[in-house]
Amino acid sequence: MHQIRAMVIVGAGHAGGRAGQALRELGWKGPIVMIGAETHLPYERPPLSKGLLTGAQDAVSCALRPAADHDRDLITHCVAWVDRIDTRRREVVLDGGRRIAYEALLLATGGHLRRLSVPGAGGAGLLGLRTLDDAASLQPRLTPGARLVIVGGGFIGLEVAASARQRGCEVTLIEGAASLLGRAVPPAIGARVLALHRAHGVDVRLQASPTAFGTDGQGHQTVQLADGSVLTADTVVVGVGIVPATELAEAAGLAVARGIRVDAGLRTSDAHVFAAGDVAEFPSPLSGEPIRQETWHNAETQARVAAANMLGGHETCSQLPWFWSDQYDHQLQVSGEPALGVRRVSRLLGDEAQIDFHLDGDGRLVGASGFGPTTVVARELKLARLLVERRRQPAAEALADPGVKLKSLA
Ligand SMILES: Cc1cc2nc3c(=O)[nH]c(=O)nc-3n(C[C@H](O)[C@H](O)[C@H](O)COP(=O)(O)OP(=O)(O)OC[C@H]3O[C@@H](n4cnc5c(N)ncnc54)[C@H](O)[C@@H]3O)c2cc1C
Repeated sequence: MHQIRAMVIVGAGHAGGRAGQALRELGWKGPIVMIGAETHLPYERPPLSKGLLTGAQDAVSCALRPAADHDRDLITHCVAWVDRIDTRRREVVLDGGRRIAYEALLLATGGHLRRLSVPGAGGAGLLGLRTLDDAASLQPRLTPGARLVIVGGGFIGLEVAASARQRGCEVTLIEGAASLLGRAVPPAIGARVLALHRAHGVDVRLQASPTAFGTDGQGHQTVQLADGSVLTADTVVVGVGIVPATELAEAAGLAVARGIRVDAGLRTSDAHVFAAGDVAEFPSPLSGEPIRQETWHNAETQARVAAANMLGGHETCSQLPWFWSDQYDHQLQVSGEPALGVRRVSRLLGDEAQIDFHLDGDGRLVGASGFGPTTVVARELKLARLLVERRRQPAAEALADPGVKLKSLA
């Protein structure tokens, strides 16, 4: 007897959860099996470093959608680790040997926290932040006066620093580079972010890197720096990025580069296997070059494209990259791909707010990066994003002049 194969999703995170939802919305009547290593139903990660740490949000509010919706959609949530993919038999093999046959398979495995290769970096005392459970371990440690050392001046490290300061902790942040946020934002915006954190009392140490982690014998963590100094802390958080979880794809012989290689329809090198979210390396809608995005918006939009194509559709990922970061009462947003720009035009908005527009050789917008008090920049950044999405070619003078309404350029 012919048995209906399931739509199988590996990774019950943001992309996985949304893909399951979309498969039903698009009319798939057969079984959907979503397999994830975490015990939780899919949830959104952005609050983990923000509202969940400050106490403004709880775990329930992070849910991608209510549990009742998963039940209504008859999505089987299987808490297990997937060990390997048998592409010849079209089956995934779970830790323990159970096999699940798939009609089409989505790999939405996200990433693993990157570890530092210095002595003591594997120690149990060091915390990372990727999951709800990680946030639940960190949150109670953020008490007034607690000393926190954060390694990494990227988005997660900075958001944790902001949340910890809001909880009254003493925060030291170590960054190996000469500026914060590396190449993710223009230097002027990185400098504004640095000034904001320093103004909020964060001891930011640039061009500083840990050479060893340990304990002082009195229950404190120690972080030795390359200059010989030693920091003592109650808690050490390491936020140095993720490594895309490509191991299943690699072992199955799928094409993998800086992520699982997919085409614009999120198809891997195997016709029955798709990939979406943080783990997928896909062609940029702007340049056609392979890119990978670790953002809420990417997981959200790719999940729907993947689901449509798992059902035989022909959708492509045409949405431009976009992300935000909230720190204190400030917001940072980047839309498009600033790195493709050959010219930068800054619009200074007052109140320490700024939007940088990135133009290609034809004067066409390819990106916008902005930062400032949320009340000042949120609306402007929305319009900047719209301009980039519409690939406008505005005059540089108009972009630079805060007296010219962005809406009029759209
Ligand atoms: C603390 C934090 C704050 C963030 N803030 C922002 C923000 O402000 N703005 C923004 O745009 N983005 C933000 N992001 C990024 C955004 O949340 C991610 O890009 C998004 O969650 C990626 O979704 P995903 O489904 O690709 O991966 P994930 O949500 O990571 O899901 C992957 C899941 O796959 C599971 N898995 C992996 N391998 C296996 C296996 N072999 N078997 C079973 N399960 C497996 C993992 O356990 C995990 O649960 C933040 C991320 C974090 C961690």
